[in-house]
Amino acid sequence: MFKKILIANRGEIALRIQRACRELGVKAVMVYSEADRDAKYVRLAEEAVCIGPAASNLSYLNMPAIISAAEVTDAEAIHPGYGFLSENADFAERVEKSGFQFIGPTPESIRIMGDKVSAKQAMIRAGVPCVPGSEGELPDDPAHIRRIAKSVGYPVIIKAAGGGGGRGMRVVHTEAALINAVAMTKAEAGAAFGNPAVYMEKFLQNPRHIEIQILADKHKNAVYLGERDCSMQRRHQKILEEAPAPGISRKLIERIGERCVAACKKINYRGAGTFEFLYEDGEFYFIEMNTRVQVEHPITEMVTGIDIVKTQIMVAAGEKLPFTQRQITVNGHAIECRINAEDPYKFTPSPGRVTTWHAPGGPGVRVDSHIYTNYFVPPNYDSMIGKIIVHGDTREQAMARMRTALLETAVEGIHTNIPLHRELMVDAKFMAGGTNIHYLEHWLEQHKR
Ligand code: ADP
Repeated sequence: MFKKILIANRGEIALRIQRACRELGVKAVMVYSEADRDAKYVRLAEEAVCIGPAASNLSYLNMPAIISAAEVTDAEAIHPGYGFLSENADFAERVEKSGFQFIGPTPESIRIMGDKVSAKQAMIRAGVPCVPGSEGELPDDPAHIRRIAKSVGYPVIIKAAGGGGGRGMRVVHTEAALINAVAMTKAEAGAAFGNPAVYMEKFLQNPRHIEIQILADKHKNAVYLGERDCSMQRRHQKILEEAPAPGISRKLIERIGERCVAACKKINYRGAGTFEFLYEDGEFYFIEMNTRVQVEHPITEMVTGIDIVKTQIMVAAGEKLPFTQRQITVNGHAIECRINAEDPYKFTPSPGRVTTWHAPGGPGVRVDSHIYTNYFVPPNYDSMIGKIIVHGDTREQAMARMRTALLETAVEGIHTNIPLHRELMVDAKFMAGGTNIHYLEHWLEQHKR
């Protein structure tokens, strides 16, 4: 096992990884920007290094600063968390070239999965079902593009090969709008992701977003840890997640989980990863793979009892997965609400000083958050300030616990989306389970204020 690792992230995930390190008896080096000087995990740290000013590109995205922080502190490995440099293959490569272990997959795996066109091709080869669409990147010839769209069938969605974070996508309903939409998506993709390549998929009308968590070691062992339902989204951003997915048979999950495991073995994947699928009419369609730990990983930890972050560190150190597929069971139900510093209905960010913070508690309640009373939420980063996660024997019990937890939670000084979560937890359709990826947008439209 490593003696010391550096955590190249901030916020709740930095604290989460720090906790995993303490449990493993591994020393954790925290890095922070000038805006995060007073962060809880920095105060709790045995060692912390300032890596630059508030702006992410000068701190959390600053590769030389992070690598030299690892050098001066004698860390052996770097955990990238999620966001920032976590899916940057060049960073993973520089980390390894500088003699550190990158806690994640190889740069090659990140590169293949980071390009959605090559990811899809790898999945097709591995026998994972994908959304029907163009075979690879769209050609330049308009007539050829029209022919592809016709055979896929309208509506179609044009997606950037290098896209992420719900950006770089455009739905096309008619042939008349097709060529212009392709040109616009290409231009945007070139500007935003430095890669103008786009591809086409059938636009599924009412899918759910279901994803499979996997873990793999360096000894060709891989397992899946069940699924998560992340259909509650606004602008392709998840806001609450649950596990397991209501109303999907275990047989179907097993079948798709086994496919994911087979794909991991085929591409020599290591570490934690997530296969994201759209699910419609009993069928799964792969859309992308995330080659890192995800925001919503705790719900899987709650239902399986497996610590995903600890396991990431263990397999990066060369250890074998400490469990086999047969030893993994899904117990009860878990729900996570992402708490964002924002207006609950207008979604404008609400940074500033937290004057009161009361975290919820009680049976089956877990809070992953770095905030505290008097903490200042900096305006420079993502608005998520924490996550409330609950576990219950049944979905009903989990929802009841979440309602209680949300009622107990008090945040003053800034706005948060807790009022929205409180409403969703008593919404009849959510309570029935199985709502699709458009549900929240429609709900917000109907509940405009
Ligand atoms: P990103 O990497 O930007 O998150 P994804 O490929 O994961 O992009 O897609 C994000 C979201 O966009 C999905 O969760 C879904 O809501 C929507 N989406 C993507 N592809 C399709 C499709 N073929 N049909 C319908 N919705 C889609």
